[in-house]
Amino acid sequence: MRAEFPDFRLGSVLATSFTATLTERRGDAVERIPTPRRLVDWLAVSGLAVESCTAAQLERARELREAIHAAATAAAIQDALPASAVEVINDCSIQGRAAAVLTPEGKRQWRLGSASRVEDALSVIAADAISIISGERDGKLALCASPTCQAAFFDTSQSRTRKWCEMNTCGNRQKKARFKAKQRQNSSSAD
Ligand SMILES: [Zn+2]
Repeated sequence: MRAEFPDFRLGSVLATSFTATLTERRGDAVERIPTPRRLVDWLAVSGLAVESCTAAQLERARELREAIHAAATAAAIQDALPASAVEVINDCSIQGRAAAVLTPEGKRQWRLGSASRVEDALSVIAADAISIISGERDGKLALCASPTCQAAFFDTSQSRTRKWCEMNTCGNRQKKARFKAKQRQNSSSAD
């Protein structure tokens, strides 16, 4: 029934999985949380289940998403962080209540202050963004090499030379484009 909505692009880093709910930012942008219900779905698969979401809360979530995108992009190119983005991230981090709990299996889970509060979930995402933008976590922020994407992603590869936000999408598309260009070149040189 929800087949009309675009799939989520889920990675291992919460903050950049969140910014990836809007993809192809430099091309034909794809909004992956177009409705409050879709944000509820995304939060559920991201370990931050909430019961409901209003249009205003979705608006706030998107504001946080764009603030993270702006700050992470600036950090990736070693530019000054935009003050307005920092303010939104900090406000979201401060305004929510969430606690980390340890499961019997030794996994971390988030316990939100109230199951109905999107703000609690956003505070976890904001704190995650702070941990990667501040350089607290092992990895490096970089921008996707796809010209229609240029998403900020967190490179945790050993060599820190990852080029694509996601191999399965942007990486493959570039590979195919290169292959096609090569084919064209070969056929024109055969003429
Ligand atoms: Zn990309």
